[in-house]
Amino acid sequence: MVNDRPHLAVIGAGPAGLAATIAAAARGVRVTLIDSAPEAGGQFYRRPAPGLGARRPQALHHQWPTWERLRDGLRTHVRAGTARHLTDHHVWVVERLPAGFTVHALLGPEQEEPVAVRADAVLLATGGYEKVLPFPGWTLPGVVTAGGAQAMLKGGLAVPGRTAVVAGTGPLLLPVATGLAAAGVKVAALVESADPKSFVRRAGTLAVQPGKVAEGARYAAHLLRHRVRTLVRHTVVEAHGTERLEAVTAAALDGDGRVRPGTERRIACDTLAVGHGMLPHTDLAQTLGCRLDGMDVHVDDEQRTDVPGVWAAGETTGIGGSALSLAEGHIAGRSAAARLHGTAPDAREWAAAARTRTRLRAFFAALDTLYAPPAHWTEQVTDDTVVCRCEEVTAGAIREAVDEFGAGDERTVKLLTRAGMGWCQGRVCGPAVAGLAGCEPTPGRRPFARPVPLGVLARAGETEEQ
Ligand SMILES: Cc1cc2nc3c(=O)[nH]c(=O)nc-3n(C[C@H](O)[C@H](O)[C@H](O)COP(=O)(O)OP(=O)(O)OC[C@H]3O[C@@H](n4cnc5c(N)ncnc54)[C@H](O)[C@@H]3O)c2cc1C
Repeated sequence: MVNDRPHLAVIGAGPAGLAATIAAAARGVRVTLIDSAPEAGGQFYRRPAPGLGARRPQALHHQWPTWERLRDGLRTHVRAGTARHLTDHHVWVVERLPAGFTVHALLGPEQEEPVAVRADAVLLATGGYEKVLPFPGWTLPGVVTAGGAQAMLKGGLAVPGRTAVVAGTGPLLLPVATGLAAAGVKVAALVESADPKSFVRRAGTLAVQPGKVAEGARYAAHLLRHRVRTLVRHTVVEAHGTERLEAVTAAALDGDGRVRPGTERRIACDTLAVGHGMLPHTDLAQTLGCRLDGMDVHVDDEQRTDVPGVWAAGETTGIGGSALSLAEGHIAGRSAAARLHGTAPDAREWAAAARTRTRLRAFFAALDTLYAPPAHWTEQVTDDTVVCRCEEVTAGAIREAVDEFGAGDERTVKLLTRAGMGWCQGRVCGPAVAGLAGCEPTPGRRPFARPVPLGVLARAGETEEQ
């Protein structure tokens, strides 16, 4: 009987959550996979909405066979009743009970109707999100995040404009630039602040992942084929336009990460796709009381957090790409299944996934030191630049809080200026506020992962459990 099986709630249906669901459901666990998106796949396997009738969605993806394997694995378990997939469910908190957990979600795009799922254990696979640092003009229409441009393309089969500049830092810029170029957008420049010389210095560490190096080479070949001008050790210092974006100014960086005066060049464009790396989603883990390592959820070799009954896998435990998320999800699912059956798992059974995990963690740790925003990026941020878009707080106001009132951390700046107090709760502006305040970014302490209507909070104990 399926209902006699122990029940695992997996939150997040990206590569990590899918791999975990399939691994646990195949080992006698009843799994409820919960995700805010209308379809499984997460960020990496984002596909055109069914209504768009895309004939060859695989053209927008590499590793399509892996997606097909995950999709079919989930379908098999859903049909067998060993897994169910709750789409459009936005989890706002996971409540610890004396025995087990209740996952509280809000249903559908309106996010007003509450749903509660009771489970014996929880696996957090909530992924990560993009970091974007401010610069003059970054709020102009036409400036989008790199991942946002890609989401339009992969999910909506739409392009954000005709002529684009892709800028910032990080490996995500490569698929975004090549994806836009392949879709017919003229990519006027790829502006990357990292220094290629540092890649040569870390060649030994990077070479342990020849597949990833080859992937990078393929992107470079695409850029050449589409004649995309690549400016390395450069940064966008300003976006120009009145009603919307008309051009950007890019400039070269010196060895210390400062703009080299006199190197500024104006590049006409109607789209700027910009990103400065990624950050893990840790809200649910933090509310549960899970320990963090810096910005990442801390896990042991079995992907267990330090809270009994809570596992975490994928980019919530550190940014490392889809293959690492798959390996971690697989290990977490197997571990959870064994522990829920009251046995200790045999790590030899996931030895291959563990080796992949070790190699990819080392690779991405090395990449992390190479891709970085310019060390002195704050020098380009003028006082009238809006930093917190939700509350419309400028860099000048934040500097005043720091210089005049002695604020030295994000929380004090927030109390003095309201930066980070709006809808996104500092997810977007947090790193920028930290940079301007001269402190290290810290994971925001948010009691809820989503804004919750007061009526839902008032009736939280009465929600019927699924
Ligand atoms: C915008 C963006 C674009 C990317 N593009 C590329 C690319 O082109 N190439 C590449 O190699 N890598 C890309 N990556 C990285 C890649 O997508 C990740 O490495 C991979 O998807 C991580 O898998 P994951 O399972 O850990 O998380 P994700 O794939 O991010 O999945 C997490 C899932 O959790 C769900 N979720 C999060 N919070 C909640 C909540 N509170 N309630 C309910 N559901 C929730 C999300 O809806 C999502 O489906 C991109 C990442 C992002 C953020």
